Amino acid sequence: MSTYVAPLKDMKFVLNELAGLAQVARLPGYADVTPDTVEAILEEAGKFASGVLDPLNHSGDREGAHWTQAGVKTPRGFREAYRQYIEGGWPTLPFQPEWGGQGLPKLVATAVEETLTSSNMSFSLCPLLTQGAIHALELCGSETLKKTFMGKMIAGAWTGTMNLTEPQAGSDLALVRSRAVAKGDHYLISGQKIFITYGDHDLTDNIVHLVLARTPDAPEGVKGISLFVVPKFLVKSDGSLGERNRATCASIEHKLGIHASPTAVMVFDNAVGYLVGEENKGLSYMFVMMNAARFSVGLEGVAIAERAFQRALAYARDRVQGKDLTGGRTVPIIQHPDVRRMLMLMKSQTEAARALAYFVAGAMDAAARHPDKDSRARNQAFVDLMIPVVKGWSTESGIEVASMGVQIHGGMGFVEETGAAQHLRDARITTIYEGTTGIQANDLVGRKIARDGGTTVKGWLGVLQQFDGELANPGTAELQGLRAALAAGAKGVAQCVEYVLATVGKDPNAALSGAVPFLKLMGITAGGWQMARAALVAQRKLAAGDGESKFYAAKIATACFYAEHVLSQAPGLAATVTGGAAAVMALEEEQFLAA
Ligand SMILES: Cc1cc2nc3c(=O)[nH]c(=O)nc-3n(C[C@H](O)[C@H](O)[C@H](O)COP(=O)(O)OP(=O)(O)OC[C@H]3O[C@@H](n4cnc5c(N)ncnc54)[C@H](O)[C@@H]3O)c2cc1C
Repeated sequence: MSTYVAPLKDMKFVLNELAGLAQVARLPGYADVTPDTVEAILEEAGKFASGVLDPLNHSGDREGAHWTQAGVKTPRGFREAYRQYIEGGWPTLPFQPEWGGQGLPKLVATAVEETLTSSNMSFSLCPLLTQGAIHALELCGSETLKKTFMGKMIAGAWTGTMNLTEPQAGSDLALVRSRAVAKGDHYLISGQKIFITYGDHDLTDNIVHLVLARTPDAPEGVKGISLFVVPKFLVKSDGSLGERNRATCASIEHKLGIHASPTAVMVFDNAVGYLVGEENKGLSYMFVMMNAARFSVGLEGVAIAERAFQRALAYARDRVQGKDLTGGRTVPIIQHPDVRRMLMLMKSQTEAARALAYFVAGAMDAAARHPDKDSRARNQAFVDLMIPVVKGWSTESGIEVASMGVQIHGGMGFVEETGAAQHLRDARITTIYEGTTGIQANDLVGRKIARDGGTTVKGWLGVLQQFDGELANPGTAELQGLRAALAAGAKGVAQCVEYVLATVGKDPNAALSGAVPFLKLMGITAGGWQMARAALVAQRKLAAGDGESKFYAAKIATACFYAEHVLSQAPGLAATVTGGAAAVMALEEEQFLAA
């Protein structure tokens, strides 16, 4: 079994050279964010991940979470790991000091989050949902709600959940039926929620559920949904825990992966709940949580890809099979061109997705704190454009990478001992929850591109154009293939944007038939942009005689490989998108099955 090692060199390279850690550190409130501090944090996170979480990943998968009458039990070792997680101060990283947080930038917290998720995705889901709940309270909750819940949640003493899904309301939250009836200073919440991550567990004394429900006279559809805080235990005025609330976990799901993460059916039976913000504005508040969570799930794609890659690499160096094509010796499989191709695909796609996610995290910091209003707005528009890309593309490629990891293991990948299969099983949920890839793609095309008439995406294409000028400089001869592939990607995106803008109003089926291929095109192009930036930096560092010459040479080779094997798909994807709905919509429903 391979042990997870945080890819600190690549993380630091991306933070410093691509995502602009130095610029983020100049934003108001981040004066203490020095490269040394960040390096120390990442090293400690790496140790915690390798030493505490990684050893529980396989055993947690085998044992799974258990439902009992007294509550859900997490697998052996999880409670102790959670205790250490709190003691290490890990839950507090990105939150404001006034609430007990460490006030670190999203960018730094993102690198830490990747590390924890790589080593144990099931464990990391609990903090993921808690952070989303904290953000929603921070932005939309009353002072009383904040005072009652935020400090405990930021410290990790209580966890948070996101209760959206009901049996009849999955992608379409307009169909939510849970009810909320006002009673004095609170509401009584009734209804059933399904698939609630960490809806119940034994890691903390209390769980703070954020629940979508409707008041009796609320309008139909999304305009009638409100958001409520429903704690597992009510909280007394002195902050201590009071009565058990009528919010219970009826069962947990048996599922393909993330076995250690309990996925709960929650029953609310006149449970006491407190309104967040105003009635009927719940969905917009929930989007705050969902956007944070969508970004984090995109990061799960990166994290699982990294873990699967490390495992496959270790196996490929160890497994001896077949002869060297030139020398005739029996060799480890890493010597075979096809295995190297798969490893390069894994490495290059992981690095591209990491670079894009971190770049977007840096933009989130600028959107929140840049002193200039226009700059904040520009960064926010870019973040909004890229969230569905980070979510949809990184998770789809995370599954591809995890599947390649199984392939590299041969038969040993299909059985459970090596752990390769677990990564594929765990990765499989990432394209489903927090909005499926189809929903992300609809969001990208409909809300993020059509709604502003393509302004933000065209602004980004302008950035690519400018960057092309940098790549055209003399001295970048070995990067010309990369430059051409990136230009083809940008051209493809531009063609698709024009197509979407021309069709979305009059023929939405045509605009949306290619939404997922378009999302993929955006992803591989944005990833290619980051890989090309990385290659350019690496080339300059090499020319300057920087000590890490092997790392930089590998960066350039990996970027060139990405251009030839991944970015090269761009023209085909663009043709698929602009081909429109004809092929997709051709069959009548009964024609699908030729029985
Ligand atoms: C392990 C796990 C954990 C989860 N955790 C949580 C949680 O903590 N909180 C929570 O509230 N929910 C949670 N969920 C629920 C999850 O968010 C939903 O499963 C997801 O949003 C999809 O909804 P659905 O399952 O009803 O699928 P459906 O909405 O029925 O979708 C089925 C298929 O139809 C497609 N589709 C649906 N509508 C459209 C459309 N308009 N355009 C194009 N395609 C469409 C989808 O892309 C998908 O391929 C979790 C689910 C799982 C399995």
